Amino acid sequence: MSFWASGAGLSMRIDLLSDGIEWGIFSNAVKTIAKSMGVKSFIIAGGDDFPNICTYCEKYVDKIYKYGWFMPILPAHPHCHHFIDIYLEES
Ligand SMILES: [Zn+2]
Repeated sequence: MSFWASGAGLSMRIDLLSDGIEWGIFSNAVKTIAKSMGVKSFIIAGGDDFPNICTYCEKYVDKIYKYGWFMPILPAHPHCHHFIDIYLEES
């Protein structure tokens, strides 16, 4: 039996899925709430507290996106702790 079909493997898969769902919901909530509040910019954040910063997401961190621009879908992969946050412009 492969690891992923074993009890430990199945529970790890569920963990990864729930982790991904949580971060995904957060990012979508930010986008939805921000729109109704007139927020115009977003920033890709997260990952700082985790030793294994994603090499895939690294290039997106701290990038600023205007509302309506294409933004990466986050989380991008299992163990991804990056998310979309509201970016407040200095006035
Ligand atoms: Zn990532």
